[in-house]
Amino acid sequence: MKTDIPFLSLKDVTIKYTDEIHNAVKRVVDSGWYLQGEENAHFEQHYAEYIGTKYAVGCANGLDALIWIYRAYIELGIMQEGDEVIVPANTYIASVLAITENGLKAVLVEPDPNTLELDENKIEEAITSRTKSILLVHLYGRCAYTEKIGELCVNYGLHLVEDNAQAHGCTYRGKRTGSIGEVAGHSFYPGKNLGALGDGGAVTTDNKELADCVRILANYGSQKKYVFKYCGRNSRLDEIQAAVLDVKLRHLDEDNRLRQRVAAYYYDNIRNPYITLPTRLPDENNVYHLFPILCEHRDNLQRYLQEKGVHTLIHYPIPPHLQECYAGQWDCASLPITERLAMQELSLPISQVITGEDVKQVVEVINSFR
Ligand SMILES: *Cc1c(COP(=O)(O)O)cnc(C)c1O
Repeated sequence: MKTDIPFLSLKDVTIKYTDEIHNAVKRVVDSGWYLQGEENAHFEQHYAEYIGTKYAVGCANGLDALIWIYRAYIELGIMQEGDEVIVPANTYIASVLAITENGLKAVLVEPDPNTLELDENKIEEAITSRTKSILLVHLYGRCAYTEKIGELCVNYGLHLVEDNAQAHGCTYRGKRTGSIGEVAGHSFYPGKNLGALGDGGAVTTDNKELADCVRILANYGSQKKYVFKYCGRNSRLDEIQAAVLDVKLRHLDEDNRLRQRVAAYYYDNIRNPYITLPTRLPDENNVYHLFPILCEHRDNLQRYLQEKGVHTLIHYPIPPHLQECYAGQWDCASLPITERLAMQELSLPISQVITGEDVKQVVEVINSFR
């Protein structure tokens, strides 16, 4: 009997590099040094080199990375409470939380339903005199930056912040996402393209003031032991996680190429009149954190796939503006595209460890859905 195809087997992902990972963990365990040591320093240096920025600062998770970025803008006097930040309405809630957590106002802008990325043509109408920043989310592993978005930032003096939680390794005209804007937040949640064996995050930037401020905020607001400049928090990256990430970073490009092969197979072979695939752009370098498809009968499709042993997930079933935690915060009637995508999106299994046989099986089952 054929076994089920999981959405993602983290066990297999870890097994792929088991010797290197075990060595790295053992090295830290045996060293007796577990926080703010050489492992962090090495990983930060390698990650900054990889992304193409002067600085990378490790922190506890991706949400904190984004929170510290906006908190730093506030501490440095660049933004203040009540300022507005434009963010895609269909993002994972962490992007929005990072804005509201800082007393800033999240202005939700609809995505392009073909690419699922922030619609460059809907940004300008959302800009007001209080708009200070765009939080550009490279959703599903695809670069969301466009020349037009860059021009809008220049013309309106907006700080471009990237949420690169889903797009480690993605490039735009030779530049990695995470180095395109002024500063970027990264998540190393285990299921991300570059994932730790637990939580982890980082901020990358060329701006020394921002990098220094984030580093201080994530370490209790302290630069010098027992001297506190800001009311920060404890939001550091463990040495063990840094060591594991340093191992997996070396394999990231190869892992992303494997994801791209899976995606290419899906694009070439999924043929079903009830299913729409996102548009592929000619010169994009999508790293396919997820492989989203759209289907009007999404729930039926998901049930059908489940019965045939293919596990899928929805990213995301309830958009931020419809969540209980944000009840009454936005005029919900105006986000029809986001709400439709939440009803129609389904993510297929994709990873660096899914077998060709399983990918073929997924396609066969999908194509047989009526
Ligand atoms: C995963 C994710 C985050 C948050 O990362 P955590 O490490 O889980 O806190 C932020 N933004 C997006 C788009 C994400 O997918």
